[in-house]
Amino acid sequence: MADVTDLVEKVRSGELRLHELEDHADPDDAAAARREYVGGETDADLETIGAYSIDAADAEPNIENMIGTAQIPMGVAGPLPIDGSAADDDFHVPLATTEGALVASVNRGIAAIRDAGGANAEVLKYGITRAPVFSVADVTEAATVVEWVEDNEDLIEEVAEETDPHITYQEVTPYVVGDNVFLRLSYDTGDAMGMNMVTIASRSVAEIVEEHTPASLVAVSGNLCNDKKPAAINAVEGRGYTVAADVFVPSDVVEDRFGTTAEAIAEVNTRKNLVGSAKAGALGFNAHAANVVGAAFLALGQDEAHVVDGSNVITSVEAREDGLYASVTFSSLPVGTVGGGTGLPTQSEALEVLGLAGGGDPVGTNGNALAEVIASAGLAGELSLLGALAGRHLASAHEEHGR
Ligand code: NAP
Repeated sequence: MADVTDLVEKVRSGELRLHELEDHADPDDAAAARREYVGGETDADLETIGAYSIDAADAEPNIENMIGTAQIPMGVAGPLPIDGSAADDDFHVPLATTEGALVASVNRGIAAIRDAGGANAEVLKYGITRAPVFSVADVTEAATVVEWVEDNEDLIEEVAEETDPHITYQEVTPYVVGDNVFLRLSYDTGDAMGMNMVTIASRSVAEIVEEHTPASLVAVSGNLCNDKKPAAINAVEGRGYTVAADVFVPSDVVEDRFGTTAEAIAEVNTRKNLVGSAKAGALGFNAHAANVVGAAFLALGQDEAHVVDGSNVITSVEAREDGLYASVTFSSLPVGTVGGGTGLPTQSEALEVLGLAGGGDPVGTNGNALAEVIASAGLAGELSLLGALAGRHLASAHEEHGR
């Protein structure tokens, strides 16, 4: 066991840098030394940050300069019955958040879905993208690069798939802007969200493009992917999972669970989620899908920056003859059940709650099921908030009109 005080002294004197501590101590001692150093420098008490139960060595692929863990309260919503292509069960959905009332709200939506007989869910499209950007001399040269790419997809596929047994090449869509060529490459990455895998594969593809054409690689990601930024291309073309969930809720359930009517909920959805979002120039036409995506991502080891992509959701609501039809369509939900943060002990336990930890059998089924579960939980969140808003509106309208 390393002498933590001695390590801290070495950091203070400049003999060691903070990120070099793991070279001289095991990961837990290195984190303890960092806490002592940072606590001393800032007068902050890091006792709770340091009181973690996981083995710091398990987190080594996921964090640098570790000082401890951020404990976020985790709740559970459910059971949520889903009739999906991949998710076909009653699910208890772990949600990690600091926003009070979120889990209760999702739970209320789930209760309505349960009373209605369950949600339907379908993965509509799947493919994770990387879009390297190349420089060329001019648009004529750009056209020759695009022509070569279109004529050599077999070679591109071979080179990409050589990088990982779990990667399957899907397609390439070239875009030209003046002397820039972007190749938006799409892949199936099994049960993994796939960003590391497709970055490695796309780098190999870029190398053969450079070898056979005048194009020169500028960056392996040219932002036409588009990763972790709000982007219309993801809304239209999809990225990760394009997944939808819907439910028909009979009128008596709407009344019982939300104290309102299908017509009132549909009106809120039209005026708020459709008209309001359109006027705001929003990409997400929904009430608060990011709330469910964010809480699910933190609980289940997903890349939290992809909440941006996951908020790209359209919620539709119709008042039908005997009740309410509601759907959510997520255009770009990048999720996985292996790789990234999914192997961390806390997050892996949460995936176990869904029965979706690790690779699926056959490959890809766990990733698909996770997407359908998050979409269905998102549907519950939408129903609950729209119901609450409509219920309040209805109540105040009754009050105002004295009936
Ligand atoms: P990863 O952590 O690189 O792990 C994926 C690996 O899991 C695959 O290469 C595969 O290796 C293995 N695997 C085992 N069973 C599998 C199965 N059933 N399906 C698919 N793969 C399976 O994960 P990733 O999803 O590619 O990348 C996620 C990470 O990338 C996250 O930490 C995220 O934060 C980060 N990220 C990276 C970038 C970037 O540009 N690099 C951008 C955004 C996010 P074998 O085939 O060898 O078994």
